[in-house]
Amino acid sequence: MDIRRINLNELSPEELRKELSPMGLREFRVRQLEKWMALGVPFGQMTDIPSAMRAELSEKYLDGSLKTAGKLVSAVDGTVKYLFDLHDGNLIESVLMKYKYGYSACVSTQAGCRMGCTFCASAGAGFGRDLTAREISGQIKAMNRDAGVNVGHVVLMGVGEPLDNYDNVVAFMREAHSPEGLNISYRKMSLSTCGLIPGIEKLMAEDIPVTLSVSLHSPFQDERARMMPVARKYRLDKLLEICNIYSSRTGRRVTYEYAVISGVNDTDAHAAELIRLLRGTLCHVNLIPVNPVEGTGYSRARREKIDSFRQRLEDGGLAATVRRAMGRDIEAACGQLRRQAME
Ligand code: SAH
Repeated sequence: MDIRRINLNELSPEELRKELSPMGLREFRVRQLEKWMALGVPFGQMTDIPSAMRAELSEKYLDGSLKTAGKLVSAVDGTVKYLFDLHDGNLIESVLMKYKYGYSACVSTQAGCRMGCTFCASAGAGFGRDLTAREISGQIKAMNRDAGVNVGHVVLMGVGEPLDNYDNVVAFMREAHSPEGLNISYRKMSLSTCGLIPGIEKLMAEDIPVTLSVSLHSPFQDERARMMPVARKYRLDKLLEICNIYSSRTGRRVTYEYAVISGVNDTDAHAAELIRLLRGTLCHVNLIPVNPVEGTGYSRARREKIDSFRQRLEDGGLAATVRRAMGRDIEAACGQLRRQAME
């Protein structure tokens, strides 16, 4: 691995032509190369490019396509979990899920995470670096190719905090939206954040009306700040205020993610406070049976308990659903494959 070599996948069309001009490639060759790179194909598999030319490319340039370092297929629902190796040895995770409406990809935005939420597997596994926009879209391309599918929905809910890698994430969403790119409408993209208020404010000014998901996990400021250190700085009252502005500007419901942790945040008092805070706002509460992560001490509430918590929210006037666990047999929970690989 030589990090000084230029990564062709990161160049613009103009930069690519300039870079390759000493090699004397004809324009149709450059276009072939671009077509392959747009599909996330490694140099070695660009079948209509002569092998000598592929070898020269491999020697001179860094191949930024993602390499599959691990793959697990769920026997329960066909969910596929991928571990991808970036060209510099950083590992990321992505998940491909099949729903009635088509394929959905859960992608990572950083190799690791700096937010330190106490219940999350990514927190303990160290921070590598931000992903580039092409590395984020590369996950979708690699999954499309590997599984022979066409992903139509994207959730930025893999490893990392999207708004902590703001510029690359916004560039990714624009690229994924463009007809030359993945051609996925903004309405079919969700960005999940632990609540970085300045990032949400900036996003609102971008005119990219993606669904905003906010990780809530507790309706009480102090408790939330213990679970999610970021909440010390970005307080709950201010967060909800900005979410309400986001939903009124975009006309779209904000999703509040709520990992139900047995005996911690599933009491009557929690339900009552959620109702008090959220009733009448344009939102939806998504209850996630917590994925027990080693070392966190948190455990999953019984299904009946989660259902009755959901019912209480509904009775109080909130739209609430329980997230279907996908690929439980392969630990599709965020960050666990990467964490295992790193350990
Ligand atoms: N950093 C972003 C996106 C990545 S996490 C965010 O915080 O929203 C995606 C979702 O999974 C978040 O709602 C996160 O809080 C939740 N999550 C993390 N660890 C979990 C666990 N062990 N069980 C259930 N949900 C978890």
